[in-house]
Amino acid sequence: MLGEIQARLENFYPGKVKTINLPLDIDAVFSAERSQYYSTKLLAQALPFSTQYPGYIIILVDFDLYIPVLTYVFGEAMLRGNISIVSLCRLHEEFYTGSTDDSLLLKRAMKEVLHELGHNFGLYHCQNWECVMHSSSGIEEVDIKGDYFCASCQKLINEPTENN
Ligand SMILES: [Zn+2]
Ligand SMILES: [Zn+2]
Repeated sequence: MLGEIQARLENFYPGKVKTINLPLDIDAVFSAERSQYYSTKLLAQALPFSTQYPGYIIILVDFDLYIPVLTYVFGEAMLRGNISIVSLCRLHEEFYTGSTDDSLLLKRAMKEVLHELGHNFGLYHCQNWECVMHSSSGIEEVDIKGDYFCASCQKLINEPTENN
């Protein structure tokens, strides 16, 4: 799956995508009470590596993530920062129906990776359902939204302004 995601990101950013292995202490962010991992703390752990690896770091994990105010999150990003995290855990179709669907998993993963990257680029959530920056609180919303930046979001990426 990692290779597939990297290959697809290469389509957007040719020659600029690398897989690295960050020595993050996963156990340190585990909540025994929730049986989940605290995503904001993992982002903070990764922060020191941003000087070592210029560009954007996307942490890809397969375990369930949370922030205290929410039951779970698909991912999290530092707004206008250079680090984000995406969990595949709740993107697996077997999480919901018990049946495996690798192509659907890849499609969902790419949407969430682009979405979190969008936050790194300074984008907020977008009202346009066609846009990958539409917010998703459940898997249905991930599936409904588009898999690319809408024209106005793309414009903000290309020409960042003071207000965005
Ligand atoms: Zn978001
Ligand atoms: Zn948009």
